[in-house]
Amino acid sequence: MPPAGTTVFAPVAIPSHAPLVRVPIPTACGICRAPASAGYSMCTSCRDVAIALQRPLVPVSAIALVGTTSALYRALRQYKSGEPGVAARQSQWLSGVLHRFAERHLRCVAPDGVDVTVVVPSSRDGRPGPHPFESIVRAAACFPMLLDALVPGAGTLAHRRPAPDGYRLRRDVAGRRVLLVDDVYTSGAHLQTAASALEQAGARCVQALVVGRFVRSPPAPRAACPCCER
Ligand SMILES: [Zn+2]
Ligand SMILES: [Zn+2]
Repeated sequence: MPPAGTTVFAPVAIPSHAPLVRVPIPTACGICRAPASAGYSMCTSCRDVAIALQRPLVPVSAIALVGTTSALYRALRQYKSGEPGVAARQSQWLSGVLHRFAERHLRCVAPDGVDVTVVVPSSRDGRPGPHPFESIVRAAACFPMLLDALVPGAGTLAHRRPAPDGYRLRRDVAGRRVLLVDDVYTSGAHLQTAASALEQAGARCVQALVVGRFVRSPPAPRAACPCCER
C-alpha cells in the first residue's frame, strides 16, 4: 500500500472504441507520464525541454505523481531542508520507498539492465559534498554501482530551461547502461540535460527513475507500477 496522501501513478486507459459523446480524453505524457492535453504526445514541460535541447528526451519512470498536499512531496522537500531530526526521518522513509519500488520494479524501469547509477547533481547550489539524495539512493541498497559521473557545466539550468552544456562528464560512461535517478521531476530541465550529457558521452542507454513527478493536480490515486501496472 502506498503511504497516506501519496498518489501512485498508473497510465490512463484510453478506450479503443469511439465515444458516443465527444469528451476530452485525458492522456499521459509519453516521456514523464504526467497528464498531457488531449491530442499531444508530451506534456507542456517536456515539449519545452525537448525543443530547447533539440534532441529526443529519455523516458522517465516516476514512482508517484505528487502534488503539494501529498505526504511524499512533503518528504521530498523536508529531507534536504527540514529540521535535522525531520530531515533524517524523511530520508529514511524515502530510502524505504525507493528500496521497495526498486526491489520489484527495477527491471520494469530498465529492462535492458543497468551497469551504473548516476544521481542528477544540483546545479550550482553551492552545497558542499555529494547531493543528499545520493545518501538516500545508497541507503536503499538495491541500485547498481553509484558513479559520480556528472558535475555542473558552464551552462545555466532553470525551470523549463535546459542547457546542452549544463553538466559535464568527469567519469567515463562510454558503452555503459546508465540508470539516472533524481528526487523530483518538475520540468525535466535538469534530468534531461544530464541524460543528454550522458548520451553524448557514449552511454549505451540511459533510463531514468524519479521518486516524484510534480504535477499541480494529481489524478486519483491508483496503486500500480508505472511500467508493469502491478
Ligand atoms: Zn512530460
Ligand atoms: Zn513494474
